[in-house]
Amino acid sequence: MNVESLVRVEDKLYYNRYLVDIGHPHVKVRAHTTPSPQLLALLKACPARCYELNDDGQVEITVDGCIECGTCRVIAEPTGDIEWSHPRGGYGVQFKFG
Ligand code: SF4
Repeated sequence: MNVESLVRVEDKLYYNRYLVDIGHPHVKVRAHTTPSPQLLALLKACPARCYELNDDGQVEITVDGCIECGTCRVIAEPTGDIEWSHPRGGYGVQFKFG
């Protein structure tokens, strides 16, 4: 297999669509001043890159594009750093395999 035939994660994510549920994010980050190690880990662990550092050094999430993989749930929900639930019916990611 040559390198040119490999498919990047970003290329696969491009085919997904996301129906935004305005005002009802299904993942929330706990208010904090200094991010915990778990929150900082999410900056690299989320395959959809939903987590970012804001100008004040706090971790924020934009759920648009979340593929509901559960990675952040495993890392940061047990420590109380995030609240995670499934999107309401009809909202969230719509997978396409084209
Ligand atoms: Fe990112 Fe997965 Fe968490 Fe969604 S469930 S925010 S894609 S790590």
